[in-house]
Amino acid sequence: MKRVAFYGGSFDPVHDGHLRVAEVLTELFELDEFVFIPAFHAPHKRGKTVTSPVCRYAMIALATNDLPKIKISTVELNAPEKPYTFETLLKLKNKLTDAQIFFVMGADSWEEITTWREWKLVLTTVDIIVVTRPHFEIEFSHVSEEIRERIVDLRESPQPAARNRQSKDQQIYVTDAVCLDVSATEIRQEIRAGDNHWRELVPPQVAKYIEKYELYI
Ligand code: ATP
Repeated sequence: MKRVAFYGGSFDPVHDGHLRVAEVLTELFELDEFVFIPAFHAPHKRGKTVTSPVCRYAMIALATNDLPKIKISTVELNAPEKPYTFETLLKLKNKLTDAQIFFVMGADSWEEITTWREWKLVLTTVDIIVVTRPHFEIEFSHVSEEIRERIVDLRESPQPAARNRQSKDQQIYVTDAVCLDVSATEIRQEIRAGDNHWRELVPPQVAKYIEKYELYI
């Protein structure tokens, strides 16, 4: 069975934190594909100004072009009227009937998961991978008992449990295989402030694109 992970977000811009998550999880979970899903406009970020989807897509394409298993989906860009993750996951599940599907989120998204539309459906439609992030504790008290029962904490016993675990219920894996202190907010702020440090946080081809099109100034 094909194993495919999807990674939703604004990616404004895509950075080394996202890319490291993609590379490490592809290895750890023996994925056939790891797919970025840039949001048309992340529902929880309404009201904030977000760079155009075309530019955000282009930056992910530049960053991942040499990585054969890492791809991009336009599923959310093509359906801006259906912005919620549960809608995207149901669509993907119906389309990829012969695949094991994972949805990946960082610890900050996990922390606010109960504010997402149909969050229980998000956590039970496909397998979930929660990735640690500096400054964010991973707590489980905000989700219900039936959800908690599905948590597989790989921080205690890494590697093999991620692979061939069979269960009819969807699992929620928690991993600290990646813990990089990079955020898109920090990158945007540094660019605006004229601080060059941000170049160390994105691939060189993304840095070039940001400069060429004068993003985040
Ligand atoms: P912003 O600072 O604008 O909120 P971000 O850096 O959190 O941006 P998003 O595009 O919002 O990036 O994130 C997409 C997904 O990637 C989310 O699930 C988020 O939790 C996760 N993520 C982002 N940065 C990291 C990181 N350094 N480590 C692990 N997960 C991350």
